Amino acid sequence: MVERDEIAVVGAGLAGCLLACFLARRGYPVALYERRPDPRTGKVERGRSINLALSERGLDALRRVGLEQQVMADALPVRGRMIHPVEGEPQFQSYSSSGDRAINSISRGALNNALLNAAASRPGVRLAFDHRLVGLDPDTGEMTFETPQGKVTATAPVVLGADGAGSAVRGQLLGYGALTESLDFLDYGYKELTIPPVGGDFALDPGALHIWPRGTSMMIALPNPDRSFTCTLFWPTHGTASFASLGSPAAIERYFATHYPDLIPLAPNLVDDYQHNPVGVLGTVRCAPWQVNGKVGLLGDAAHAIVPFYGQGANCAFEDVVELDRCLDECGDDWPAALPLFQQRRQANAEAIARMALDNFVEMRDKVASPVFQARKKVEHALERALPGRYMSQYELVSFTTTPYAQVHRQVRRQYRVLGPVTAGAATALAGAALVLGRGRRG
Ligand SMILES: Cc1cc2nc3c(=O)[nH]c(=O)nc-3n(C[C@H](O)[C@H](O)[C@H](O)COP(=O)(O)OP(=O)(O)OC[C@H]3O[C@@H](n4cnc5c(N)ncnc54)[C@H](O)[C@@H]3O)c2cc1C
Repeated sequence: MVERDEIAVVGAGLAGCLLACFLARRGYPVALYERRPDPRTGKVERGRSINLALSERGLDALRRVGLEQQVMADALPVRGRMIHPVEGEPQFQSYSSSGDRAINSISRGALNNALLNAAASRPGVRLAFDHRLVGLDPDTGEMTFETPQGKVTATAPVVLGADGAGSAVRGQLLGYGALTESLDFLDYGYKELTIPPVGGDFALDPGALHIWPRGTSMMIALPNPDRSFTCTLFWPTHGTASFASLGSPAAIERYFATHYPDLIPLAPNLVDDYQHNPVGVLGTVRCAPWQVNGKVGLLGDAAHAIVPFYGQGANCAFEDVVELDRCLDECGDDWPAALPLFQQRRQANAEAIARMALDNFVEMRDKVASPVFQARKKVEHALERALPGRYMSQYELVSFTTTPYAQVHRQVRRQYRVLGPVTAGAATALAGAALVLGRGRRG
């Protein structure tokens, strides 16, 4: 094999580690720079555990470098949504018409550690922790890092920024006037709470993503291998019924007892979690171009962070890695050709999932609770069974296939044009019938 120059990857998060594995397979030596100390030896920051829903796109990428089984050992399958109304019994909505397709709940930390181990075990991959990128010259590829020993510099022929939503690589390119960016923050934040195991077992059904839709806000919960659940509140940051409006233990307890009554007996540390866990920000990052001089490139959240409501940020970042690898194949490892091609192939897809993720917030916090929405899901599943391979819901296309996101958007619009009136009519009739029969049963 021809000797290759060492590629610099900035950020040993999800995309950076997977990218190092793919590049090592191509025969590149890789220097993986990470601002944090080695997370495999440290403790997770309180309230920042983050459960991810890993689905087909992410799994496909992991499979290509033989990591699927190892990663899935820490994951729990989730086959649908469990909707918790304020009053009454929770209702299960299957994700797929067959009922057996699942997304996979996994902790971001566990996933990151598994990928770090995988990257570290690849020949030619060098990990440099405690290296925070603070300077980058896009013409020469010279990088400056802050380390516990002071500032150090390194130079690479290609520098890839996989350093997340607040990317320092992107910030450096911005400073050189080499790109433009837009950051759209939501007026919502997120905060984690915990539901511990009860008598050594899960307190809720572990085969579901639990949702407490409350109109303008919501809470979700995903299971962990230790039989606890991590709940995430998605609430407005300001105004009434927001993170800013609840302070005292009594007010917190009162609010949850009114709006999330079934949580109270399950979350003994509710007040402490609420008072001490941080509020994270949520937003969409757009920038262009994603590469400069065929020498510095961006991928994952660094290029296109999205809101988490479709459970696709990491999946999308993993797909980026697969596409970059494909572009390198097609361009014979000519980076100045491969990086622009990568952007051309991925940008419309990133934009499509960014929009779908924003739309899904409204669906999760509001629509899932409506009888018409629930009836529409039933009709969609019936159509999927009646027209196998020809009709698929947006959720199935996004979560259970690798159909490019932009194509999903087009396909769903086409399906809607043809079958929308049928679906809407049948769903309204079904919802009406359910209401009448429900009244009959009670009466
Ligand atoms: C609440 C929440 C829920 C989510 N749920 C899901 C989900 O269900 N499914 C899903 O697919 N995605 C989900 N996501 C999104 C997912 O976490 C991200 O899309 C994913 O982590 C992006 O991977 P990345 O490698 O691009 O960035 P990151 O994972 O953020 O990694 C970036 C790395 O770069 C390092 N770094 C940063 N700055 C520097 C620097 N200056 N120098 C060196 N290193 C640096 C960081 O320390 C980090 O290790 C969720 C996100 C949130 C916030």
